[in-house]
Amino acid sequence: MTSNAGGIQYFYGNLSLATKFMTVVKCPICGRETEFENNEFRPFCSERCKILDLGSWADESYALPAEAGELTEADWETIEKVLGDNQEDS
Ligand SMILES: [Zn+2]
Repeated sequence: MTSNAGGIQYFYGNLSLATKFMTVVKCPICGRETEFENNEFRPFCSERCKILDLGSWADESYALPAEAGELTEADWETIEKVLGDNQEDS
């Protein structure tokens, strides 16, 4: 019984194909799928989208993520309260 041999070969053939597809990324600007490797504008699809992204940052249209060091006293009180509640449960 060697009828499975071809199937295994087929399986691994598809696996390497799937790995190749993982290097395809979606352009954060236009959502178009673009190859990650051999792409000087990555993760963008083109120079146009790269420039658009830089322009968006300059316009501050993106909200900058808050850093952990910027937590207020009220935030810490909430965190400590939640942690305390969890300990009471056990
Ligand atoms: Zn794009």
